[in-house]
Amino acid sequence: MSETRFDEDGKFGEYGGQYVPEVLMPAIEELQSAYERYVLENEDGFMDEFRRHLRDFGGRPTPLQRADALSERYDRDIYLKREDLLHGGAHKLNNALGQVLLAKYMGKDRIVAETGAGQHGTATAMAATYLGIDCEVYMGRTDINRQRPNVFRMRTHDAEVNPVDVGSGTLKEAINETMRDWATNVENTHYVIGSVVGPHPFPQMVRDFQAVISDEARKQIQEQAGRLPDSVVACAGGGSNTMGAFHEFVGDGDVSLFAVEAGGSGLAIDEDEGLAPHSASLSTGEDGVLHGARTKLLQSRDGQILESHSVSAGLDYSGVGPELAHLAETGRVTPVSVGDDAALEAFHRLSKLEGIIPALESSHAIAYLEEAENSDESDELGDLVVVNVSGRGDKDLDTVIEESEKRGIDTAPSMEVFE
Ligand SMILES: *Cc1c(COP(=O)(O)O)cnc(C)c1O
Repeated sequence: MSETRFDEDGKFGEYGGQYVPEVLMPAIEELQSAYERYVLENEDGFMDEFRRHLRDFGGRPTPLQRADALSERYDRDIYLKREDLLHGGAHKLNNALGQVLLAKYMGKDRIVAETGAGQHGTATAMAATYLGIDCEVYMGRTDINRQRPNVFRMRTHDAEVNPVDVGSGTLKEAINETMRDWATNVENTHYVIGSVVGPHPFPQMVRDFQAVISDEARKQIQEQAGRLPDSVVACAGGGSNTMGAFHEFVGDGDVSLFAVEAGGSGLAIDEDEGLAPHSASLSTGEDGVLHGARTKLLQSRDGQILESHSVSAGLDYSGVGPELAHLAETGRVTPVSVGDDAALEAFHRLSKLEGIIPALESSHAIAYLEEAENSDESDELGDLVVVNVSGRGDKDLDTVIEESEKRGIDTAPSMEVFE
């Protein structure tokens, strides 16, 4: 996408902005004004209706649960924020419900969305059906083939799934196609972006919809543990569960914030192949522009975006939200990374110790507890830790079995029963 316009609005330090083609500006300006009126000023009771849907349809508030076995293992008090218990099985519904409702308040009758692993597409399709609005989802051909169950889930909710055959057929191309559709059909269409990325006001708006996570968690930990936590840990792909879990704690200077990125199979990059074997854009990225915002990106020396990798599809993205880039740059958020192997082991550990099957994305946050034990950050993690379990892992079982077998991880369930 060409960069023809830049606006100071919505910048987080040097990150963010509106690097979009001129044709998209009317859509962005209309959205910005609707966001300010309905979300920030609660015009027509928008936020009250949003909270009602989060409660009645979504099942909020989600519990904050003390993880007894993990607490014993690490000799710290570990609390889990259970976004895996939100309807749909991940935090993504918070944002999807907010944006689909906003589209209705804006008088739109059609939703478009991009999806990578299919989680955001599924959440959007659910929200669109629930609120009675048409939904089309763009998805790369490669992703369609490797995420079949989510394609069926979307179609079950009557969403159209449009395959994108350009490039590598994954999330990056799907986002470009969705922006193109939005620019063409802005009269009746809203683009529900899936994370705290894209041009302003998306990063700020998506954060506001996800902030319900930390709004609840901050009250819950004070009720249950009698004080604020020493640290909050969340995985980071684009960073929406991350910003959601951090937002209400950012002003609490004594609360450390850890963003756990996907370290994949290692942090080195292959310039010649245009590949990064990881998705750690906060930890290793360089400043650049992607999908309408200036942020930290995985890119080659000459500024080409590198393909990212993670065993977890939801973390597999070359960029990261601009606010998170800013908070990392200024030292408020500590970016750390956890590799594929450690994430897989954490998946099994939580399943066995606590009876919770976490999403592979969330497993990165869980894995960090183990990694921190012998690291410099151990003290900073402190005695009272909140970990955001962004989603449940049923969707990942096939991948986990296959990848665990490959690695000879012996805590994986035996498949002998099928033979
Ligand atoms: C999509 C997804 C993520 C990553 O997205 P963020 O915007 O970084 O939160 C994390 N966890 C789960 C369960 C997801 O589905």
